[in-house]
Amino acid sequence: QGLLHQDALGTPVYQAVFNADGEIVADRGTPPLLPRQTHRAPLLDAGVIVGYLESRVSLDTLFRQTLALALLVAIGGGLALIVFDLFPLQQLRLAERKAYYLAEHDPLTGQLNRYMAESVFAQEMKRASRYDYRLSLIFFDIDHFKTINDVHGHHKGDRVLRQLSRLVAQNIRASDWLVRWGGEEFLIILAHTDLNMTRKLAEKLRHFVECTDFGLGTPVTISLGICSCPPHASLQDCVRQADAALYRAKNAGRNQWAEAVADDAPSTGTPDSGETASRPEIFFHHAEKS
Ligand code: GH3
Ligand code: MG
Ligand code: MG
Repeated sequence: QGLLHQDALGTPVYQAVFNADGEIVADRGTPPLLPRQTHRAPLLDAGVIVGYLESRVSLDTLFRQTLALALLVAIGGGLALIVFDLFPLQQLRLAERKAYYLAEHDPLTGQLNRYMAESVFAQEMKRASRYDYRLSLIFFDIDHFKTINDVHGHHKGDRVLRQLSRLVAQNIRASDWLVRWGGEEFLIILAHTDLNMTRKLAEKLRHFVECTDFGLGTPVTISLGICSCPPHASLQDCVRQADAALYRAKNAGRNQWAEAVADDAPSTGTPDSGETASRPEIFFHHAEKS
């Protein structure tokens, strides 16, 4: 037994001598549990195997070290993936989304920009022509906006633009499209909306804007031109008609709406003009359509 070891270079070892029948003759140390490495060396006497010397070493520490190393490699790999791959990829996707957003939206108000109007209109016109329903436009412009800028400053003017576009967006249907046409001019593309419904919406919006406090001490008002688009008409033609109607609303004193007519004869409605569709009462556009 004195020849057996229980330690090899600081690692505990179990050694045992077996006779030719496999019975333990002598052993030293504590048999290690799994995982372990076992080695058997034959014991020879004049060339004849008379038994075995078995050495067992515990792989426990090694196993733990390997596991820890594997874990470190996995964490390192994961971090490298995040730093060199996922992070830039996410940034790229974000930049891509921003670019898409900016291509389609006006940065000041967050509404669709003028370039989007053409494709939205074409899509809606296709649907309207196919399913035989009306498509209408409201083209509106803030009254005396230059004076608002001059008196309250450009920054306040910007805030009015944002607040007003939000107010309008909240009072049209989700299926309608609000476009910032330019400066203080906006276009609303109204899907599935005939002229009568458009008149009511124009009056509702005019009224809401007039009644809203924009923090200027004086009311902000808008003038609107409305038009119902004939099947297959172009956006350009329809906007021209709505713009002509808006021009008449401006000339007739502002804070009112006017509609485009085939023979271009102005037909205006004001809160107190006595016209049927332009009553100062609030029309609930959404409720009426349900
Ligand atoms: P009208 O009632 O005839 O429409 O008069 P108006 O003063 O509103 O019209 P005008 O076309 O003379 O002036 C429009 C003003 O809108 C001038 C321009 O400086 C201002 N404007 C255009 N875009 C912006 C913007 O993004 N922010 C601000 N603050 N002002 C803008
Ligand atoms: Mg204006
Ligand atoms: Mg204008």
